[in-house]
Amino acid sequence: MSASSDKAAAARGRVLLKALLLLAALLLLLLPFRQRAFRFTAPAMGTRASVTITDSLLAGLAGAPAAAAGAAFAEIEAVERAVSIFRPGSDIARLNAAPAGAEIELSRLSHEALLAVREAAAMTGGAFNVLVLPAERRWGFKTDARRSVPPDDGPPLPDAAAIVLREDGDRRFASLAGEGMGVDLGGIAKGFAVDRAVEALRSRGVRDAIVEIGGDLRCIGRAPGGAPWRVAVRDPRGGVLAVLEVGDRAVATSGDYEDFFVGGGRRYGHIFDPRTGRPAESGVAGATVIAGSCAMADALATAVVVLGREEGERLVDRLPGVECLIADAEGTAPGRVPPRRPDGNIAAGRGA
Ligand code: ADP
Ligand code: MG
Repeated sequence: MSASSDKAAAARGRVLLKALLLLAALLLLLLPFRQRAFRFTAPAMGTRASVTITDSLLAGLAGAPAAAAGAAFAEIEAVERAVSIFRPGSDIARLNAAPAGAEIELSRLSHEALLAVREAAAMTGGAFNVLVLPAERRWGFKTDARRSVPPDDGPPLPDAAAIVLREDGDRRFASLAGEGMGVDLGGIAKGFAVDRAVEALRSRGVRDAIVEIGGDLRCIGRAPGGAPWRVAVRDPRGGVLAVLEVGDRAVATSGDYEDFFVGGGRRYGHIFDPRTGRPAESGVAGATVIAGSCAMADALATAVVVLGREEGERLVDRLPGVECLIADAEGTAPGRVPPRRPDGNIAAGRGA
């Protein structure tokens, strides 16, 4: 081997080293712009809420996703303050405490929630009916009392028209038409809060995110790397029912396994059939609805549990852009049903 070829090899080596160093520097420079999912959680609405935001490492270091998630959680808290039946000063608690026909003034937020309630009642032909509170209490739900079968059947639920809304300039009012009536927005509040939280994120320029409360969720944009968000729907009897790719859509689940008791050998869930005033016995253990807004997905899931598979599927087929997955109660012995999970029944996230 000659000295000149040695020199040439050494020169080639130096060039290669330089190229490698340059490449490493370039990768290091690009790293801050690499996208990842930032996930935040907080207790909310008697369960947990999570906000997942796709953003760059650099934005993450600057605290942008954390600030946006904070705004989303604040919005969820505002919804809870406005509509929870357990918060004595909430608009809904005041409405329930007011005498028949007496108006109470609503915040913009609770007015909007009651408009969504009205829309859901109309959309489901009355299967979704928030005038469920007296029936719930008679059966021991939402009280400190024990859940039990009451000695006699109560009346069917009043028509949704009993919730009277009135606007006067930019003030809004509500009243309940009949004595002893009460509303519980438990079947739509989580979905409504998810929608509001998504708007809070959007107004801060967030384009790619998932907001989830107790399993009800809405996705916007994409997961890191540009893939669609993937959401696992759990089977009420255990395991995974389906994995959905969800772009700019909402997913909500209702079921008799969320809150129920067993009396006289039968299981009674927390979703009531407005026609009977009793817990629904439609044969549906769980219904997952995919829709454009989380409020409608949440309310429709509750309605499908009331209506049962056949009528529920007919309802969903009529609605453009709405789909549903139903798990039948058949063969679901009380002992085999998993207990209420504090984190809800859907695992959300990338490749969940
Ligand atoms: P979860 O809140 O456990 O996820 P749902 O979304 O199905 O479950 O909501 C159940 C709640 O909806 C009940 O606790 C009750 O407050 C309310 N509810 C029960 N029956 C009805 C009904 N027919 N229409 C509207 N809301 C209902
Ligand atoms: Mg619901």
